[in-house]
Amino acid sequence: MRATLIYGAGDVRVEDVPDAGLREPTDALVRVLRACICGSDLWPYSSKPETEQGERIGHEFVGVVEDVGSGVSAFKRGDVVVAPFVWSDNTCDFCSEGLHTSCRHGGLWARDGVDGGQGEAVRVPLADGTLVKLPVGEDDALLSSLLTLSDVFPTGHHCAVTAGVNPRTTVTVIGDGAVGLSAVLAARRLGAERIILMGRHRDRTDLGREFGATDVVAERGEEGAERVRDLTGGDGTHTVLECVGLLPALETAFAAVRDGGVVSRVGAPQYSDVPADFGVFFRNVTLTGGVAPARAYIEELMPDVLDGTLQPGRVFDRAVPLDDIADGYRAMAEREALKVIVEP
Ligand SMILES: [Zn+2]
Repeated sequence: MRATLIYGAGDVRVEDVPDAGLREPTDALVRVLRACICGSDLWPYSSKPETEQGERIGHEFVGVVEDVGSGVSAFKRGDVVVAPFVWSDNTCDFCSEGLHTSCRHGGLWARDGVDGGQGEAVRVPLADGTLVKLPVGEDDALLSSLLTLSDVFPTGHHCAVTAGVNPRTTVTVIGDGAVGLSAVLAARRLGAERIILMGRHRDRTDLGREFGATDVVAERGEEGAERVRDLTGGDGTHTVLECVGLLPALETAFAAVRDGGVVSRVGAPQYSDVPADFGVFFRNVTLTGGVAPARAYIEELMPDVLDGTLQPGRVFDRAVPLDDIADGYRAMAEREALKVIVEP
């Protein structure tokens, strides 16, 4: 079968790899209908040292079940499914607490002999726990929006949930990438009425307004935080959702949050020190967030997607066939595309 491998920075190739197939009784074999490129895939794409072998990549996909092991009871051939970006048993103590990313038996796609999502098919470990059935057909028009349940939409949702967004909280979202826009959508869904989106790309912030942003702040840094405070009577917002930014974005978040408020961050941080100094301490600001346990949120978020209330798939602004995925990486890395969908 064909699958994507990354050999190093700027070097993504689609090659023949061994066919995905069942190994464990708890496995399912899923043919990929749609995959996508994640902002986090751009980190190795920008910095990975060149390798001889290449490594599989991709962790977001929807597909159709082709075969199941004898230990799989929840799925059968022909089921259309979504896979969250971490596989898990959905039964251990962490999973029961809704923290599937800490599953005692789970793991990551494209690691340790597990297939990546950017290919024609995937062996899904712990299929009963990992997969969620989608009540649609293989060519359903909602497939793109349902694909966002794999990662980007639950990640935005997790940011809003951990920040404690509700109808009484004002919200600032920092970042107009796919996760930031998803956070806007999630905050609106949780009832927030005032959502200030910080971003500089007009086409993206326009989509953010359609997703529920009430204000857009194009300025960055202290100037941007000052704009947020100006818009909120001088105080800042109760919550700040920092979506996949670098350290300056976190500094902006602390400057834009109201005393007693919450800053939540999602997206793999590319910094190790957090600037939570005495000023942040004295203002009783909470820092939270982390990797999103997407599996915990899929059933909750799916109905609004199925009935068309929410269209998170609008973050996809380009589609490429699998063989052209390198061009998709290039387009996202050069900020030419917001998020790229891949059709094997
Ligand atoms: Zn678990």
